Amino acid sequence: MSLLSFTDVSIWYIRRGEQPSQAVAGVSLAVAPGELVTIVGESGSGKSTLIRSAIGLLPANSRISGEVRLADADVAGWSHNRFARYRGTYVGFIPQDPGVSLNPVKPIGRQIEDALRNRLRRHRLLPFGNGAHNLRIRSDAFRFLELAGLSAPEAIYAKYPHELSGGMKQRVLIAIALSGEPKLLIADEPTSALDVTVQKQILDHLDLLRRELGIGILLVTHDLGVALDRADRIVVMRNGSVVEEGTSGEFLHGVRDDYTRRLLDAAPGLHTGRLTPRPIELARAAAGEHERSTSEYAIEVTNVSKTFTTRRGGVEHSVKAADDVSFKVKSGTTHALV
Ligand code: ATP
Ligand code: MG
Repeated sequence: MSLLSFTDVSIWYIRRGEQPSQAVAGVSLAVAPGELVTIVGESGSGKSTLIRSAIGLLPANSRISGEVRLADADVAGWSHNRFARYRGTYVGFIPQDPGVSLNPVKPIGRQIEDALRNRLRRHRLLPFGNGAHNLRIRSDAFRFLELAGLSAPEAIYAKYPHELSGGMKQRVLIAIALSGEPKLLIADEPTSALDVTVQKQILDHLDLLRRELGIGILLVTHDLGVALDRADRIVVMRNGSVVEEGTSGEFLHGVRDDYTRRLLDAAPGLHTGRLTPRPIELARAAAGEHERSTSEYAIEVTNVSKTFTTRRGGVEHSVKAADDVSFKVKSGTTHALV
């Protein structure tokens, strides 16, 4: 059974005096318990719009068709308020920028305690003014901060957000998202504001959480390398539609779509050399050589090596896709690569 499923979802934005513009066009995808599904795609491809429809965060100027199913309810088009019974409990949301998502004038401990109290009040489990509850809430807050990978929660409890590093702030947001004990985490580029090493640590931690707690994760990222490293399934979006979908294994054995290929080539750290054959004209022109000599080869590939790394069950696997490959193709000739 899926934790979340989109079925033929289309979303439009209405701007006054303009035709509605379609941001999402007929997308279907699902996330099962313990599964990490990654959505990748260039800026403006509709990733955030799609996932906002699953957390009640679409703006008022949007229209939606299709089905967005969370547990037993179709939440497509639900308002922020109507969505309250799912947000923070069934589904936790990790926002993009930890810098602006925490309250700058409240200590960290108070922020996570507030999240815990609000949730208990919403479920009418918390009477006011009960000291025993305060102790329980504090120990829960410590537990969730630890679960988010902050090993010494007492050291940051009284601190304000500006006193923490970006990575620590993002972990606090993960702790807040976890504090509702969600079955599903939705994260919209949760690490794009962080440096590469910290990004990796945070993503590794999310990966650990879904394996240890069985939480389903829907992760949005620009970076196909990130997706290949961790995702069970990768969904590539372009102009509001899904252009390719598959397991990371399927992606490693060859992608079908040109656009996905370009994303793959742009993924940092995945290959060395020049993988995409480019007309030699460009290379020669870049080197300042004469135009006359440029028509001899249409394609020149020089010393290209490419290794993909994936992790399954905590074990890293490397697949060498190309090892120091060089070839040239003359203009007007046909070559087969077999
Ligand atoms: P990014 O990687 O930059 O975050 P994205 O894939 O998340 O991009 P969206 O933010 O979903 O893309 O935007 C999809 C399209 O919808 C874009 O053309 C964008 O301009 C438009 N759009 C997004 N939010 C609104 C809004 N509130 N009102 C009108 N149009 C919007
Ligand atoms: Mg976005």
